[in-house]
Amino acid sequence: MIIIKTDSEIERLRRGGPVLARILREVAAVVRPGVTTDELDKLTRSLMEKEGVTPAFLGYRPDGADRPYPAALITSVNEEVVHGIPNSRILKVGDIISLDTGINFEGVYLDHAVTVPVGEIGAKDKELLSATEAALEVGIEAAQAGNTTGDIGHNIQSAIPKKFGIVRTLSGHGVGRTIHEDPYVPNYGKPGKGAALKPGMVIAIEPMITRGSEEVVLLDDGYTLVTEDRSRAAHFEHTVLITEKGPEVLTK
Ligand code: MG
Repeated sequence: MIIIKTDSEIERLRRGGPVLARILREVAAVVRPGVTTDELDKLTRSLMEKEGVTPAFLGYRPDGADRPYPAALITSVNEEVVHGIPNSRILKVGDIISLDTGINFEGVYLDHAVTVPVGEIGAKDKELLSATEAALEVGIEAAQAGNTTGDIGHNIQSAIPKKFGIVRTLSGHGVGRTIHEDPYVPNYGKPGKGAALKPGMVIAIEPMITRGSEEVVLLDDGYTLVTEDRSRAAHFEHTVLITEKGPEVLTK
């Protein structure tokens, strides 16, 4: 069921979005060679505590998972597409890392991710990051009342260079009353198809793009998804409110 948010929920989402954006910006700012993904998670937890918000992913148990997610931050390095668990891994020059996190702010949920370079990265990775971020932007442009989720997916798909892969088994989603709601927001699609977008809907748009295969494989930890061919992947995400006047990015 697609939930149209109440005025009170929208008001809180509008205040919570910038809080989440600030937290993720601060975490991204400390990414550099020598830092571990555990340290990034610790910083995320302390910033959330300071802001008086609750981590949305810590203790969250997705369908099919045999244990709850153990961290506040999701850290997916290089060939890891999404759902990487922070650990003692030390980031190296030339790595890329997706930082994905969500909060419960006064009872409403927001979701946001960026992929950032670790020191100087190669030209192909730079292109991957900028193409994925640009695809998120054109996806957001299609998030108009009267459009559909297919319009968003079509825009994203059209913006991605053919040499890159679009992960199709994962998608964006509704968000707000919980961290994952209807509808699915795929990163490919046909104009006019899928769920109709209406004012008051809140969706997370999140292209997951690879330098190779579109297929992902689950690691033994039960969470981390890597590309089947171990090519590198990027992931950017914003929580977006559909309004009469157009898309409103909440997490900025
Ligand atoms: Mg998400």
